[in-house]
Amino acid sequence: MSVQGKTALVTGGSRGIGSAIAKRLAADGAIVAITYAGNTAAADATVAAIESAGGTAFAFQADAADPASQRAGVEQAAAALGGIDILVHNAGVAEFSSIAEDTDETYDRQFGVNVKGLHVGTRAALPHLRNGGRIILIGSISGEMAFPATTVYSATKAAVAALARGWAKDLAFRNILVNTVQPGPIDTDMNPADSDFAGQVLQAIPLGRYGKVEEIAGAVAFLAGPDASYITGTTLNIDGGATA
Ligand code: NDP
Repeated sequence: MSVQGKTALVTGGSRGIGSAIAKRLAADGAIVAITYAGNTAAADATVAAIESAGGTAFAFQADAADPASQRAGVEQAAAALGGIDILVHNAGVAEFSSIAEDTDETYDRQFGVNVKGLHVGTRAALPHLRNGGRIILIGSISGEMAFPATTVYSATKAAVAALARGWAKDLAFRNILVNTVQPGPIDTDMNPADSDFAGQVLQAIPLGRYGKVEEIAGAVAFLAGPDASYITGTTLNIDGGATA
């Protein structure tokens, strides 16, 4: 029970990778709060799964792209949890388009959720984050390598890694450790393993398969736990060898 007695806020915890992270941290002993954009049924299902396994969880609707909503979600979560030890910024969106198809709206939506949401959310969480806490950002290997028609998304994820490096230095004086987990292709609603895109992407994966959400949750659990006490400002690629 590596995070026994700790509290964790996972943004975008209703589905996919975020739901798996919430369940894993709860299984490892943390009390968990999740936020979600609009899928109340999925958020309730994540909470129910945690509770049926004997854990404690809360869910709050909070749009990461809307600063007031994001701040309110963090405040509600911090109140329910009684302070935050582990903050996981997982909420993210991807819109697949080439530079010829990109619009101001697709740019703003992706940077709004994937980058500004982290900046707003971390500032809101700081007064509630205990010294010695952890901030874990879910970036992407797209921040380091190009895939077809994902340039704006890639730019947001390069920014995510930059935020973690900077915050690691800004918050070291409080022993708050900040790292980025960069998944490769993981089978979720965002990136189903049976799509045409998957067919192209698989050629870049030495292990020859999509990853599972639990394989990302395991890395997050490691970075949230005591064995990661000297790791800050780094990126951990979980990608079947894609960036090797
Ligand atoms: P999903 O689309 O399966 O789930 C997205 C989650 O984020 C949902 O819980 C959703 O809530 C929430 N969310 C979306 N927009 C907002 C918003 N504006 N405010 C709050 N919550 C929001 O995505 P994945 O699980 O695949 O992705 C999770 C993270 O992992 C993202 O940051 C993504 O970029 C990253 N990633 C994913 C990869 C993959 O191959 N799947 C690869 C690399 C990185 P709701 O259910 O309410 O819609």
